[in-house]
Amino acid sequence: MSGIYLHIPFCRKACHYCDFHFSTSTKSYADVLASMKAELRYWAPAWEAKVQTIYFGGGTPSMLNEQDLRELLDIIRSEFDVEQGAEITLEANPEDISGERLSAWKEAGVNRLSIGVQSFFDDELEWMNRNHKASKSIESVRLAQKHGIDNITIDLIYGVPASSMERWKENVKMALELEVPHISAYALTVEPKTALAHSVKVGKVTEPSEGEAHAQFVYLRSALNEAGFEAYEISNYGKPGWHSVHNSNYWNGVPYLGIGPGAHSFDGDIRRWNIRNNVKYARAIQNSVNWFEIEQLSVRDRYNEFVMTGVRRSAGISLEEVRVRFGEEYSAHLQSEAERYIENGWLAWNGDRLCLTSDGLFFADGIAADLFLV
Ligand code: SF4
Repeated sequence: MSGIYLHIPFCRKACHYCDFHFSTSTKSYADVLASMKAELRYWAPAWEAKVQTIYFGGGTPSMLNEQDLRELLDIIRSEFDVEQGAEITLEANPEDISGERLSAWKEAGVNRLSIGVQSFFDDELEWMNRNHKASKSIESVRLAQKHGIDNITIDLIYGVPASSMERWKENVKMALELEVPHISAYALTVEPKTALAHSVKVGKVTEPSEGEAHAQFVYLRSALNEAGFEAYEISNYGKPGWHSVHNSNYWNGVPYLGIGPGAHSFDGDIRRWNIRNNVKYARAIQNSVNWFEIEQLSVRDRYNEFVMTGVRRSAGISLEEVRVRFGEEYSAHLQSEAERYIENGWLAWNGDRLCLTSDGLFFADGIAADLFLV
């Protein structure tokens, strides 16, 4: 099994908090798309694993013109071994969603939409420098449902300084009213070199409060749990049967091929990442010059990644699986490093599986780092 990730590196506006790779200039659009098609054809002969999921991420994949979307999918279908009924996700911003476009996406084969809602308050969207209004998010989710796309996930952001617990509750209520089967919710973080980091530095905005973010996270989990969602990963909540296959495979260590500027690939042993610059990526592919860097992963690297993603999942980390995959040394290390967090109540054994407790959930990344072997 495997997945294909396509990175569409263009956005209409730069959201203040975002540190993904994207450009607001579309001058290189034609060259980047031509190079992405060439890159797919380049890797296809050696990519033998069946493709179970295809994911258009970004950037803003809903900026793709319909012909390019169709062509990318046609290349994948003709040159890779794609599973019947593969999950095909397109990340879409509300401002790009119309009846016509939904029909075209569906016809091309897209069967899952990930809609970047973020908040149902216009002033919060403005604060984030998003390009849409809250009413457009609501309208676009309903329109997609009307067009027969049931597999919809929406993204929300909590811990926004311009927000409050009361507003967050309203956001969660609205998300539930839309009756989508999947919700991803992320804490706002201040990433280096973003406009938000600059505003925090010069004192224009206050830093997100960890206490407030934690309270909103706790509220979200309980509200979604009550509404029948499974918190299968720290940021991901799905109704039974509606978990993201692409992301679940990624957390399970299933190989994936990343196409496009800045995209990463993983085949079980190596990690590869493409040039994070649209013009340089396109030029390198056109001139057959190396457009990626590659790293052979050691057993230790693979163990650390396994712990990083495993801790965030509700299923946790199986000690036996660690022993079989990485050896006795690693399972013994995990057991001994986990002890202090078991004592303070942030981790617990569930049979053979090491899982975060509800108190430990918010500290997942720090706990995972302490379980690493360095
Ligand atoms: S639309 Fe998405 S990728 Fe683009 S700037 Fe905003 S958050 Fe980043």
